[in-house]
Amino acid sequence: MRMVLLGAPGSGKGTQGEKLVAHFGIPKISTGDALRAAVAAGTELGRKAKATMDAGELVANDIVIGIVEERLGQPDAQKGFVLDGFPRNTAQAQVLDAMLERLGQPPIDRAIHLAVDDEEIIHRLLDRAQKEGRADDKEDVIRNRIAVYNAETHPLLAYYEQQGKARTVQGTGGLDEIFSRITAALN
Ligand code: AMP
Repeated sequence: MRMVLLGAPGSGKGTQGEKLVAHFGIPKISTGDALRAAVAAGTELGRKAKATMDAGELVANDIVIGIVEERLGQPDAQKGFVLDGFPRNTAQAQVLDAMLERLGQPPIDRAIHLAVDDEEIIHRLLDRAQKEGRADDKEDVIRNRIAVYNAETHPLLAYYEQQGKARTVQGTGGLDEIFSRITAALN
């Protein structure tokens, strides 16, 4: 199973992604996690990305594409994967399709869109800010990340709809309830 999780920041992609990992035994590839690890390790890539991430903007396509290409080439990603936070714009989605072909992997099977309304998103992210203290979970940055999502990432739903791969799942309710909706939508 090769899948893409779409949804605003705070829609539950990370949490549901972990459940999918446990269920299917495939890795989750999160460009946000990889970037935060690079920032924490103080690598050159991390230094380049930090200010952009702190502002809630998208880092350069070539940076995240490099991360994903490297990860998709690893042995554990050959039988499937869950992409969390990538692709984030149409250019990334097109590169992903071409990359899978070049790597000799089958195409994406499903893009699952977790639908959660903006007010609930802001509420969840402010709550996460208190618990985890992420640098980009501040209200003005949160609003910017939602705006960036709506402008750049949400159009990917149409991209995957055109390929017949998109499914929208209600992202509110209990975690197990949401997970059941996702597994139903994967079939
Ligand atoms: P996330 O944890 O997925 O919300 O990502 C945190 C931040 O990392 C985003 O706000 C962006 O600054 C950056 N980021 C993560 N994934 C991507 C991507 N695919 N393209 C561009 N920037 C990204």
